[in-house]
Amino acid sequence: MSQYSQLEKALKYHFGYENFRPGQREIIENALSNRDLLIIMPTGGGKSLCFQLPALIKKGVTVVVSPLIALMQDQVEALRKNGVAATFLNSSLNSYQTRSREQYILQGKVKLLYVAPERLISDRFLPFLDLIHHQVGISAFAIDEAHCVSEWGHDFRPEYRQLILLRKRYTDVPTWAFTATATDRVRNDIIQQLGLKDPSIHIASFNRQNLYYEVRPKKKNAYAELLELIRDSEGSGIVYCLTRKKVDEITFKLQHDKISALPYHAGLTDEERTQNQTRFIRDDVRVMVATIAFGMGINKPDVRFVIHFDIPRNLESYYQESGRAGRDGEASRCTLFFSYADVKIIEFLINQKSEAQEQLIAKQQLRQMIDYAEGTDCRRTIQLSYFGERFLGNCDNCDNCRYPKPVQDWTLEAMKFLSCVARCKEKFGMGHIIDVLRGAKTQKIAQYEHEKLSTYGIGKDKSVEEWRMLGRSLLHQGLLEQSTDGYAVLKLNALSWEVMRRQRTVSIPVTVTQKLTWNEDNAK
Ligand code: ADP
Ligand code: ZN
Repeated sequence: MSQYSQLEKALKYHFGYENFRPGQREIIENALSNRDLLIIMPTGGGKSLCFQLPALIKKGVTVVVSPLIALMQDQVEALRKNGVAATFLNSSLNSYQTRSREQYILQGKVKLLYVAPERLISDRFLPFLDLIHHQVGISAFAIDEAHCVSEWGHDFRPEYRQLILLRKRYTDVPTWAFTATATDRVRNDIIQQLGLKDPSIHIASFNRQNLYYEVRPKKKNAYAELLELIRDSEGSGIVYCLTRKKVDEITFKLQHDKISALPYHAGLTDEERTQNQTRFIRDDVRVMVATIAFGMGINKPDVRFVIHFDIPRNLESYYQESGRAGRDGEASRCTLFFSYADVKIIEFLINQKSEAQEQLIAKQQLRQMIDYAEGTDCRRTIQLSYFGERFLGNCDNCDNCRYPKPVQDWTLEAMKFLSCVARCKEKFGMGHIIDVLRGAKTQKIAQYEHEKLSTYGIGKDKSVEEWRMLGRSLLHQGLLEQSTDGYAVLKLNALSWEVMRRQRTVSIPVTVTQKLTWNEDNAK
């Protein structure tokens, strides 16, 4: 029998699924070939299966490192329900339970062993690990949420750094690292810190096809719109708010309007939080109103809607938080309510930060969030460009694609813009490029003698806002790049040159340009 049908058979036998999700089969084949792996897959992509199935096929025990005890228990419980030989060892067990599980493991009756990182590397545990390796064999170390090794990620955990010890102690055991965090920095950090050897790297598309993305202006009566949205939706959902106070307020209003809702934020006791979360997961309550404290490790596959009632801090957070919808692959809705009043609040918070560099980065991230909200390109194109993924648009599953605005050919303007970036030697941000295009007389222009450039003043016919709109659209469409150090320096790429050589055309939505021209005329 070919490996093809064998793997499908194993999938059906152990998990009852008919088909692999995109990427899973390839990853599993690599896992079976004893290589180190680095797997980057969006939340809900089906990472777990990529180590669970090979664990069942391979000889010995696969040791799974997972940062959250609750998550660990959920996964093990779900596996055991499917008849999979999985167990966990953590501080929630008494010594009798621990010992009997250990014996079970040494008898070769366990295929997947979940352990918290701090326990795994403890002096007491390592001899036991030696014993497992000796008696039944360790087939792999699967490191879940591997971005926790990186200070650049959003959940740095120092104990993850020590996992390299496993690599040194068990040189013949492959390490498989899994994460949903996509930036290059974090990826490289994972490889370094875990000592991965020539890993096979899989970067799944971050496109979550089943999610419908939309942005709505947050008007005066936004609460009424929120209520209507929830009433019109099926199933359960999450409403994210910026502050605890707002969470309490919205929960109260929803309850008053006969929506079954509970709050979740860091101001509640641990017990209240756990209780509310459990009730949400069990469908006792339909809506969780929460701050960002709610989310990581919550495994509820059938969340049908995620509503951001306030603007999130950055696009990555938005992607992760909205991504808690539809993990089961069914159609779900992600709505963002956007207002400039909220932007002002976030700006205020950013200005409280003590470090200038931190402020700069936070402001750039906020800018990207605003660009997303105001953007007229496909929402997916904008989101995925943030992760360095090019997506051509026309997804038919976002507000901008379903209700498109007519577009206008702006190739000539794009050529002017990009040439100006080139003439300024790719060392400046958008504001300065636009000043040069519009022939402004600024100190910076005088300082760099940019009034002598051939592109100086060639864009007087368009307003600052119009150029900005074009600039943003070029960024979203991947025809231009921007540094992420907080300075947002514009850089050209291969596609920019194609535009400048007239090998590629550029369109931007026409309503935007008309509206803005009108605005400017009025302002004169
Ligand atoms: P994550 O990548 O976020 O860890 P999970 O591993 O929890 O994602 O998978 C998300 C959901 O998709 C789970 O409910 C899981 O059972 C389901 N799933 C994973 N692989 C498949 C598959 N091949 N067919 C159907 N459902 C799958
Ligand atoms: Zn779209």
